[in-house]
Amino acid sequence: MSEITLGIIGGGQLGSMLAIAAKKLNVKTVVFCDDIDAPAQNFCNQFVTGSYDNKEKISEFINQVDLVTYEFENIPYETLNEINKFKPVLPKPSVNRLIQHRLAEKDFVNKLNIRTTRYVSIEKKSDIDALEDFLPGILKTTTLGYDGKGQYPIKSANELNSLNIDFSKGYILEKLVKLKKEISIIITRFSNNKYEIYEPIENSHEDQILKYSKIPAEINEKIFNQSKDWAMLIAEELKYVGTLCVEFFIDRNDNLYVNEIAPRVHNSGHLTINAFNVSQFENHVRAVCGLEQIPLKKISNAKMMNLLGDQITHYRNMQKFNDNEFFFDYLKKDIKEKRKMGHITTLV
Ligand code: ADP
Ligand code: MG
Repeated sequence: MSEITLGIIGGGQLGSMLAIAAKKLNVKTVVFCDDIDAPAQNFCNQFVTGSYDNKEKISEFINQVDLVTYEFENIPYETLNEINKFKPVLPKPSVNRLIQHRLAEKDFVNKLNIRTTRYVSIEKKSDIDALEDFLPGILKTTTLGYDGKGQYPIKSANELNSLNIDFSKGYILEKLVKLKKEISIIITRFSNNKYEIYEPIENSHEDQILKYSKIPAEINEKIFNQSKDWAMLIAEELKYVGTLCVEFFIDRNDNLYVNEIAPRVHNSGHLTINAFNVSQFENHVRAVCGLEQIPLKKISNAKMMNLLGDQITHYRNMQKFNDNEFFFDYLKKDIKEKRKMGHITTLV
């Protein structure tokens, strides 16, 4: 039996699912979150609440754990780096710093000769001139974006000028890709050239928020292989330990692009809980805690639907689900529009 206590920064649904996976492996968990109502407190062994720069709370947290991981990327680098002086942080803080910055992330991916969307850094208003090449495009904050937050679709330079943008933050303008499909690869790297990699997952978004994921993805063999190869190359180059997700775009000419990397477990991988012998969450815990690597086996094809806002109510009131349906309620206190409240996976 393992004697490990794993610290998890962030107490949302990803933290909950990590804690559930850890429990199965007899790994104890302590969740640290700035939200006193964080849902993961329902699933972990200990819960510490405080802001992510509260030194006292951070010490209280790290004193209880053997190592630390995180469920979301927008954690101050200083916090992760400070924690790393006392307890190992996996994935490494430097990996998180690179990936949480859209510009640094895309530069890194391009250096590996992997295609991304075309992009340009925007730091001041005058940078907006002469950008026709990148339009229509999407203006994104370089840091702290998620679920389409901090993003502005832009058709013309005029439109860009009329937006009231706070240029004290950094921005990136990305050329819009004429999307045919979006897919993601979830990979867990244990150590040098030791991986478990899931097959490509096909994702559909509504209002820039993930709505549906399914396997198998309807893609050609070249994209199937290229997406896996690129994800392996990225994970290896980062010397990554744990579960990582690479989000991809496929355009109408079947060109593959890396959209972004998530240095963590990912919403599109929720279906791995029911569709594989080992979920992305269990694999993450196994990798960061140095536990045994188990060869992945698919149990079934599957589809997953996110339940946003009050869509959860109908499912909460359901008396019974079919044997192939798995409903997860994240137990969030307040229902908010577009908030991820739960999901349902169907094995097909
Ligand atoms: P987030 O960090 O919010 O997930 P993304 O960059 O992944 O940000 O954007 C969210 C979604 O918006 C994408 O999954 C895609 O559907 C759409 N999107 C973002 N950038 C582009 C682009 N350059 N071209 C086409 N669609 C895009
Ligand atoms: Mg994304």
